[in-house]
Amino acid sequence: MADRDVQLLAIGAGPSNLALAVALEELAPDLARDSLIIERNEEVSWQPGMLFPDALSNTNFLKDLVTLRNPRSRFSFLNYLHSTGRLDHFVNMSSFTPYRAEVADYLRWTARSLALVELQRGTECVDISPVWTGGTLTGWATTVAGGQTITSRYLVLGTGRDIRIPEVLRGLKRERVVHSTEYQPRMAGLRKDLPYRVVVVGGGQSAAELFYSVQIDLPECRPTMVMRSVGLSTYETSKFTNELFFPSFVDEFHGARPEARDQMLAEMRHTNYAGVAPGMMDNLYRQMYLDRFTGRSRLQMITMHDITAARDEDDEIVLSLTDWRTGATQELRTDLVLLGTGFSPQMPGAVQRLAERIGLSQIAVNRDYRLVIDRPSTAACYLHGVNEETHGIADSLLSVMAPRANDILQDILTGDHLENLAAAPVTTPVVAAG
Ligand SMILES: Cc1cc2nc3c(=O)[nH]c(=O)nc-3n(C[C@H](O)[C@H](O)[C@H](O)COP(=O)(O)OP(=O)(O)OC[C@H]3O[C@@H](n4cnc5c(N)ncnc54)[C@H](O)[C@@H]3O)c2cc1C
Repeated sequence: MADRDVQLLAIGAGPSNLALAVALEELAPDLARDSLIIERNEEVSWQPGMLFPDALSNTNFLKDLVTLRNPRSRFSFLNYLHSTGRLDHFVNMSSFTPYRAEVADYLRWTARSLALVELQRGTECVDISPVWTGGTLTGWATTVAGGQTITSRYLVLGTGRDIRIPEVLRGLKRERVVHSTEYQPRMAGLRKDLPYRVVVVGGGQSAAELFYSVQIDLPECRPTMVMRSVGLSTYETSKFTNELFFPSFVDEFHGARPEARDQMLAEMRHTNYAGVAPGMMDNLYRQMYLDRFTGRSRLQMITMHDITAARDEDDEIVLSLTDWRTGATQELRTDLVLLGTGFSPQMPGAVQRLAERIGLSQIAVNRDYRLVIDRPSTAACYLHGVNEETHGIADSLLSVMAPRANDILQDILTGDHLENLAAAPVTTPVVAAG
């Protein structure tokens, strides 16, 4: 017996599901009134582990939760600025890219401004099971921490991607390993006066931000950045390739042959991955320059090395680094390892477990982000932000969120999700065993 039943349950109150909530309020008020978003954190935010005071979003503010779908919406970033009395000052900055902290605040403002969709904070989804009625999939039973169950006909997963921890580092004690997503709260718990040895792993934007920030957050630390690449390089930011982040490009990408999609993703890799924003690159170079000039020499960058082994030894971590040019190895002893290693390209574990319970042989979504379920079904499950392979490199980014919310909603409203429905006898609902 469920503790609560809603038509639509959205898990995660990040930008993806907030964009959906806005679309629900504007386009489907009846469904909106019967929709619930659950968020595990007590507060709505945006990538809170990396919310540095001076970090900028790299995305145009017009790619907010709604403007590309409905430029006249009251939920726009412009209306947020207007409502909070900062429009003149923002305009005067002559910048299209807001601070990340400002985007986080815009998300909170949007969450507060919802009139119909309910948002429940501090509620973590721990398990999802399909509900079968006879041979037909009729819904979902979601269990939250604390044990309550919420049933729904529609389920929308907007929980982000799983973090990536390189295999070689997985056995280390977690108290000495910090992924970028945990950076700010974990640093807040450390003493500031100790001369920690810190290794930052990775050569992209997250690693660069960790290397830059840890010098401020742990003023006495000695950070070393270790990367496989030949050195840091900037993102590819041409206006021509940026056209491939247009929402309209999703159709083209989705319609392409699989091998062509792979090629496009490979060619576009440097627009979003393995690159550093030009401003951050300058900041880092200046940090290194001043470090040498002042003779402090506490900063080090080790390029073209793989971490080939790692172990805990007493109170430290010992990393084995192999120079891939020569095969030579060296040991690096450290107190802390910061991971700027990003996110797994695989489907999140929660989606894999759900697919297993439904009995799917493969995980695929259609053009409208609906999980393909080759069984009679009156229910549907949609996946945000984990479909780069089929929907293109912008899938995890703000660029496509407003139109994607519309795609998902229209799939529900037009009944397209009923395509596999076969006449099936109506019997008592059954929740698959957990
Ligand atoms: C440091 C950083 C900077 C970035 N900067 C940009 C940028 O400038 N521009 C851009 O377009 N993209 C950027 N991105 C990409 C980012 O993925 C998207 O901007 C966006 O945050 C994705 O939104 P989302 O809602 O799909 O997922 P997320 O933002 O990851 O939100 C997921 C939400 O789900 C919640 N959640 C997770 N698991 C559960 C659970 N089991 N139960 C309940 N709630 C749960 C989380 O707490 C979170 O609130 C950045 C990413 C990072 C890491």
